[in-house]
Amino acid sequence: MSIKEEYKKNLTKGKKFLKTGGNSNNFNLDEIHEECGIFGIYASGKNVAEIIFYGLQALQHRGQESAGIAVSDGRNILIYKDLGLVSSVFNEQNLAPLQGHIGIGHSRYSTKGKNVWRNSQPLFRTFKGQSFAIAHNGNLINTESLRRTQIKNGARFETSTDTEIIASLIETSEKENIEDAIRDAISVIKGSFSLLILTCDKLMAIRDPNGFRPMVLGTRGGNYIIASETCALDIIDAKFIREVDPGEFLIIDENGLRSQMLLPVKRRSMCVFELIYFARPDSYIYNKNMYEVRHKMGEELAKEAPADADLVISVPDSGTPAAVGYSAASKIPYAEGFIKNRYVGRTFIQPSQDIREIGVRLKLNPLKDMIKGKRIVVVDDSIVRGNTSKQIVRMLYNAGVKEIHMRISSPPLVHPCFYGIDMATQTEFIANHRTVEDIRKYLGVDSLAYLSIDGLVRAIGEPKADFCFACFNGDYPVDISEIIKYDKFSIDNDDRMEKLPTNIKTR
Ligand code: SF4
Repeated sequence: MSIKEEYKKNLTKGKKFLKTGGNSNNFNLDEIHEECGIFGIYASGKNVAEIIFYGLQALQHRGQESAGIAVSDGRNILIYKDLGLVSSVFNEQNLAPLQGHIGIGHSRYSTKGKNVWRNSQPLFRTFKGQSFAIAHNGNLINTESLRRTQIKNGARFETSTDTEIIASLIETSEKENIEDAIRDAISVIKGSFSLLILTCDKLMAIRDPNGFRPMVLGTRGGNYIIASETCALDIIDAKFIREVDPGEFLIIDENGLRSQMLLPVKRRSMCVFELIYFARPDSYIYNKNMYEVRHKMGEELAKEAPADADLVISVPDSGTPAAVGYSAASKIPYAEGFIKNRYVGRTFIQPSQDIREIGVRLKLNPLKDMIKGKRIVVVDDSIVRGNTSKQIVRMLYNAGVKEIHMRISSPPLVHPCFYGIDMATQTEFIANHRTVEDIRKYLGVDSLAYLSIDGLVRAIGEPKADFCFACFNGDYPVDISEIIKYDKFSIDNDDRMEKLPTNIKTR
């Protein structure tokens, strides 16, 4: 049976097209990972699947583990999802049956639940016999307690994600209509959530009252689009209208767009790491271009931590805007010091211990003639565990540099993130209980300096109170005392889950 025939066979009300997919591993680089990218569109009279596909491609940097699209033609919802990059999951054959004028898409990096097919999104559920699909960017902090309560009340779970908690709360709400059921669910979840919910006739968006993760509203040809970042609007030539406000609930249907404030905003706390690293440099947050903000971070860094050097280089690509800014403010020339292999991506081969260091060299190779014999400033956006930075330093010395002055365009990371960013546990942070001088010695560089929180705020040019800096200063905007166990795989490892029946097959 062809894929198209299988699709048709499964195109019954609310039935998902299930397809098992590949698996992926990655070299264990010292990287920070975003959780997800989301994209939704309501476009009367149009087929939206292809538009969502392009929107998700623009948001690929936010999550590379799985991708999915759900569309509604006004009567049925059909979902297609699989493990892998957007471009490897979707093709002409599997996009063609996704017919409908409303849709949502998701690209995932897991911060709760394993990278397995059943955890990919959008998730599908029903409310009083009415189908809905949900896509989530963020991380709930009261997942375990809500899940246990739901299970005690008879709810069943098919995944190990926090997103399914929200879906389950909606599904089991006693309210009369889905909008009220969503309000019910949102009133008990805590943490970070930018959500898209698709019903047969509506596209809905909700942003948590802290506004941790970005979410924007755009328009194209009179139709509405909601996306994680403005770069996803640009790719489909849509116009940016505004950011979705923290605590806002948007409902888009045949009557147009309605907005309500769902939750009171006690404290705005946009994730400052979106501005340092996660959001694409061509995206806008707070009406500010991310490249320019990062350039200013580099300028501030040059003022706070000057260096006597011949050349400024970056750790590409994320360190480049700040390196260019450092160069502009210090008047030390900027040059490319590394060539980045952009085609490595994910690998199916787990490296053995003796070639583990290949991970960094696979991605970065120094331009030896450019840097040999020079005193260089190396600008990067952050240091997590320090092992990647150490390998970079070794590569630079092997390439013949005379001095290395490492400059980091963010403050030292010392506290874990509970709001949707996968970085490290507290003990893994190199800056945990170590001074900058300790880290300098460990890395073996001639000097090391980080941008201060005040310098970061000056570079952003917005009130400090509007942002979350918890991973730098431990000031968590949403109470984290409810976290029973901080473990990405806590639900996967929960015995109770294994005993639950599931009707979804995974490999
Ligand atoms: S703790 Fe750090 S990474 Fe997490 S939301 Fe706050 S600023 Fe962002």
